[in-house]
Amino acid sequence: MTEILYDVIIIGSGPAGFSAAIYAVRSGRKTLLLSGVRWGGQLMLTTLVENYPGFPDGIQGPELMLNMRKQTERLGAEVVNADFEKADFSKKPFQVTAEGKIYRGKSVIIATGADSIWLNVPGEMQLRGKGVSTCATCDAFFFRGKNVVVVGGGDSAMEEALFLANVAKSVTIIHRRDKFRASHAMQQRVFNDGKIKVLWNKTVTAFLGAEKVTGVKLKDTVSGKETDFDTDGVFVAIGHKPNSDRFKGIELDKKGYIVRKEIPDEQGLLKFRSATSVPGVFVGGDVHDYRYKQAITAAAFGCMAALDADKWLMEQK
Ligand code: NAP
Repeated sequence: MTEILYDVIIIGSGPAGFSAAIYAVRSGRKTLLLSGVRWGGQLMLTTLVENYPGFPDGIQGPELMLNMRKQTERLGAEVVNADFEKADFSKKPFQVTAEGKIYRGKSVIIATGADSIWLNVPGEMQLRGKGVSTCATCDAFFFRGKNVVVVGGGDSAMEEALFLANVAKSVTIIHRRDKFRASHAMQQRVFNDGKIKVLWNKTVTAFLGAEKVTGVKLKDTVSGKETDFDTDGVFVAIGHKPNSDRFKGIELDKKGYIVRKEIPDEQGLLKFRSATSVPGVFVGGDVHDYRYKQAITAAAFGCMAALDADKWLMEQK
């Protein structure tokens, strides 16, 4: 049997991956999307999504992803539920291995996303989507007039707290040390916000509640004393980990995100916006983006990556 040569292989099945596949296949490209066995990305772990345009009453995260997948398959992209293992970008065509099988592609789009880092303490997993979140932009709206907690001391935690302060009754930042690592400017905004309080030197050792979160168990890092703290919601903001470690030869920044390169044409005008350090390999979504981290921005980055891959493929003739 002749091995299939794909024009575009997309690795990852969040909004960036599916959006890239939709654009690639509609450009007439033979398209493969390696989705992973647990496909769908971070939205599979959320409940109501109210900030993705086109759904006036909101949509459940898993339903949104299923819709994206159905749309991708209906348009003719091949979606394989295999877990990506490695890629060899030194060979042409490129070789991508998933569950022991090698797939060959003229171009590749990396859309493997990033995972929120969780505290990994009792109750956290069970209460995700039931008052425990990692995205204030997505979920703050559900906490109008409520008391919420943000865990962390970096820029993300400051940003989450400031965003939540616009809607919540009170915001308490819980940080494990007596200093934030966030930028001075962000810290000042937090300290100047009358709604935000800080509990220093505390770690969250457990999440409390059954149907929904009702509080957190805290341990003082200095005295060792344990207390319970009542809250209606907890936002864990202790960082993200990009899924970038299996791409040998692709340049990463110091935080491990893939470096997205903008390449000009001969006249100095922007030609590619989603290139990587390897020509023909493009990137879209949270695996390069630590700034926006939204479904809609990931989808847009995926679209750009597919349009760039299409243009690049045309130039190879
Ligand atoms: P980060 O800078 O790595 O900060 C993570 C925070 O979480 C730290 O304060 C850390 O505490 C705390 N933490 C980590 N593990 C913990 C644990 N197990 N239990 C309790 N606390 C824990 O991550 P980030 O805030 O997501 O920022 C990532 C990067 O994106 C940074 O470079 C940041 O500047 C950038 N960013 C910028 C903006 C902006 O400019 N608007 C917004 C968001 C992010 P310690 O301090 O004790 O280590």
